[in-house]
Amino acid sequence: PELAALVAGGAVDVLDFPKPGIVFKDLMPFFGDGPRFRQVVDGIVTHYGAGSFDVVAGVEARGFLIAAAIAYATGVGVVPVRKAGKLPRPGFSASYALEYGEATLEVSEDAFVAGQRVLVVDDVLATGGTAAATMDLVERAGGVLTGFTVLMELGFLNGRERLSPRKVHALLTV
Ligand code: 5GP
Repeated sequence: PELAALVAGGAVDVLDFPKPGIVFKDLMPFFGDGPRFRQVVDGIVTHYGAGSFDVVAGVEARGFLIAAAIAYATGVGVVPVRKAGKLPRPGFSASYALEYGEATLEVSEDAFVAGQRVLVVDDVLATGGTAAATMDLVERAGGVLTGFTVLMELGFLNGRERLSPRKVHALLTV
């Protein structure tokens, strides 16, 4: 509950972004606030327990910020899950439907050692399409999923159900 308040206090509602009718949760104030960011990262580490994962995977781009902090705090590596066309070497790719069109995420073929336990992180869980594609990529690349965590879950979009039976850890659900 205290961690939920720390996330809530760093979020700003932006009306009509990225398009009319959408209320975008902007978490940049959260990231820009050192003590807030550190306490929440420490809270995520405590939730899973240092030693329960071997690597952290973050979704481009805000997931990178959280993933790198958790990785540094626990002494493990960080793997970027990238938007299409950014990786310099061959990778696995997963496409998923957006409201209009399609998005593709990619991870390097050799991003994980087979059997490595992977914690996946992103800033916001909305419909769950991004998370589903990311977890699919992690498993195809040989990783074993230990958990999926987000700072904020938009509960009314039912992303959690879409990801079931995989578990979602959200610090704040709105
Ligand atoms: P989904 O695929 O679950 O519909 O959307 C989640 C992805 O879109 C995440 O990578 C997240 O960063 C981004 N996203 C969707 N809605 C929001 C929002 O309101 N605020 C932020 N910060 N990111 C969002």
